[in-house]
Parts: sequence; C-alpha cells; structure tokens
Amino acid sequence: MMPQTQPMLASAETKNMIEMQQVVKTFVNAAGEFTALRGIDLKLQEGEFIAIIGKSGSGKSTLLNMLTGIDHPTTGKVIVEGVDVYAMSESKRSLWRGRNLGIVFQFFQLLPMLNLLENVMLPMDYVGMYDIDERPKRAMELLRLVGLDEHAQKLPRAVSTGQQQSAAIARALSTDAPIIVADEPTGNLDSRSAAHIIDLFDELSSRGKTIVMVTHDPTMTKRTSRTVVISDGELVNETIAQALPLLSQPLMKELSNKVEHLHLQPGETIIRQKEKVDKFFMIAKGKVDVVLQGRRKDDVIVAQLGNNDFFGEVELLHGGKSIASVRAAVDSPAELLALSRDDFNWLMDESPLTEKAMGNIVQKRIKETKLADRRKKKRLFG
Ligand code: ADP
Ligand code: MG
Repeated sequence: MMPQTQPMLASAETKNMIEMQQVVKTFVNAAGEFTALRGIDLKLQEGEFIAIIGKSGSGKSTLLNMLTGIDHPTTGKVIVEGVDVYAMSESKRSLWRGRNLGIVFQFFQLLPMLNLLENVMLPMDYVGMYDIDERPKRAMELLRLVGLDEHAQKLPRAVSTGQQQSAAIARALSTDAPIIVADEPTGNLDSRSAAHIIDLFDELSSRGKTIVMVTHDPTMTKRTSRTVVISDGELVNETIAQALPLLSQPLMKELSNKVEHLHLQPGETIIRQKEKVDKFFMIAKGKVDVVLQGRRKDDVIVAQLGNNDFFGEVELLHGGKSIASVRAAVDSPAELLALSRDDFNWLMDESPLTEKAMGNIVQKRIKETKLADRRKKKRLFG
C-alpha cells in the first residue's frame, strides 16, 4: 500500500499541467556558445505518464531543468499548473518547487551526511508539510515502498548505487507533489527494481499524478501513456516516433519537417478505391475506416486504423492504384500526416529496417484485403 495521498480531483476533462512555449536554452562559456534546446513547444496533461527519450547529449536533462525551474531558459516560457515559473523570484520558486514537484535527479543528490531516512524527510521539513512527529513514519513507509526499509539508518555511501537511486525516488514522493519529474530514474537499477519503479509510477499516474520520466532506454516507453522524443535539442513529431519506431532519431527529426498536416471531417474520404495513391499517411488523431466498395455501393469496412497507424504504403510500394478506400470514421474528425511519394522513397532508402518492416506489413495487408474481398463476393453471389 502507498502512504496516504491527498485525494485528487475527479475530473473527466484533462488539464494542461505543464506547458513549454518556444523554450530555447543556449549555454555560454569559455568554449563559446552551445544551444541545447532549440525552441521546445510541449504540453503535458494532468495524470499523464510521459517518457522523454533521446540519445545522450540530446538535451533531456536541460529540458527537465527548465520544467523544474532549476535553470533559466534563454528565451521562451514555462507554465506549470498555470504558474509562469520564471516570473517568480528565486526564493519563491524554490518553495513552489518543493510543494509542487518531486524531483529524482540523474545523480541522485542525496546529502552524504544524512542517512536515507533523513534524506527522505528533508523535503517535508523544507516545505513544512506533515506534523513533525509524522514525518519519520511517512519517510519510513516510502522507503519500504522502494524496498529500503532495512537500510533506513544507513548513509548513502553505505548502500549500492541502485539503492541510492531508489532512496532518491522515495525522497521525490515525500511531499506528495502533483508532479514527479525523474531523470533516468532506472538507469542504475537491475531489471527487477526498474520494473518495480515503473509499476510505482504507473500507479501514481493512475491516481492523477503527472509523471515526467527522462530515459535513453526506448524499451522503458512501453509502459508510459505518452512518449516524447528529443533529438539535438528539438522535439520529434510524436506520431512519427510512434508510427515508425525503427527510424534513427535524426531521420525522425528530418521527417518531422517534411510531413504535411491534414485535417479530415468525419466521414471525409482521403483515398478512393482504384484511384492512384501518391502519398503515405500517418494518423495523428482520430480514426479512419478502410473500406471496400462494390458496384452497388455496398461498402464493407475491412479495418479501422487509429492513432499512430499508417496507410498508403501498400500502393506506394506495390503499384499506384488503391486496393481500398480510406475515410475518416463517421463519428470523429481525423488528423493525418502526409508524406509525398518522393519523400517516402527517400525514407525507405535511408532506413532499410523500416523498409523491411513495411514490406512485411504490405504482404499482410494485401492478404487481408483479398480475404475480405473474397468473403464479400461470396456473400453477394454465392
Ligand atoms: P542529456 O541529458 O540528453 O544527455 P543534456 O541536457 O545534459 O543532455 O545536455 C545537452 C547538451 O548541452 C550536451 O551537448 C551538453 O554537453 C550541453 N550542456 C549541458 N549543460 C551544459 C552547460 N552547463 N554548459 C555547456 N553545455 C552544456
Ligand atoms: Mg541527462
């Protein structure tokens, strides 16, 4: 069981918990200037469990430092729970951070002269939360939660790196902050302890906490509700990252600049059966129906595709004419990303892994469509 948590407001609508607007960060030092973040726009909703993934040096920690108010953006705005983080004075910000954010730093930053229990109590002391008598008990429950209750009296250096990391996670939970921000929180943990921490974050997010977890390990993102990819200080389009996960991050970024954004009304057709297809489409929002049409307008929906699915690849790779019609589902609009034939071909050349995966999908889809067509004819004529 988790230590008591303040009840979260039950609300059906989502609320922007964190918003970054055109955040740029340029470091200036003796070696010259380096721009680590190049105009980040990001909105994170309450209760989301977000993974921010990117290679080492891509700007993940810098981005987190902007969210937590630990470092200043060079330009741009950061708004957390409706509060402009950088409009506050330094001392106000520090208190605000203590109350609203639980932070797991990449290098833990446990105080070396305090034992683990005292380290976990520290944020409660700092913001004056919970009765003084209650704090050790709560800290102990949190240590138990991360499997460290037997080590509560030890100094950080007397436990393993993984245990220090777990203690840092317990500390981040101590003030029951609505937002947990964690920089590579599983980086030093064995796979079992890592899975336990992900379970814990998952549970916290289902109770309404917003969790932002930075990781360079793409496998960590299976459990999160959303994945944001950063490459060289820029965010990669999320639909591209999800739809084409085998692309390298620089390719994802390049592709983000090539796609065209399309909006479909409910029921609007984007591809007509037997007509030439010249684009590859990825679904950013909504759903589309794949429809086989007969001579007597007897439409049969053979598949429904949703978020991060794609279509058009069969025609681009196999011949120009469409094997089916595709239209937005009748009950909702859809947002698509479209890539021209030339850019699609360029992409297949650049990423043999993606080309191979596409080939497999094409085979499967052609087979499915043929089957559906045969079933339809049988029903009509036989
Ligand atoms: P990540 O966390 O994704 O590994 P960081 O956000 O730590 O990446 O760093 C992004 C880039 O910014 C790196 O090239 C790093 O060298 C540079 N950088 C980070 N902090 C500073 C700093 N204080 N001064 C100069 N360059 C920095
Ligand atoms: Mg980092």
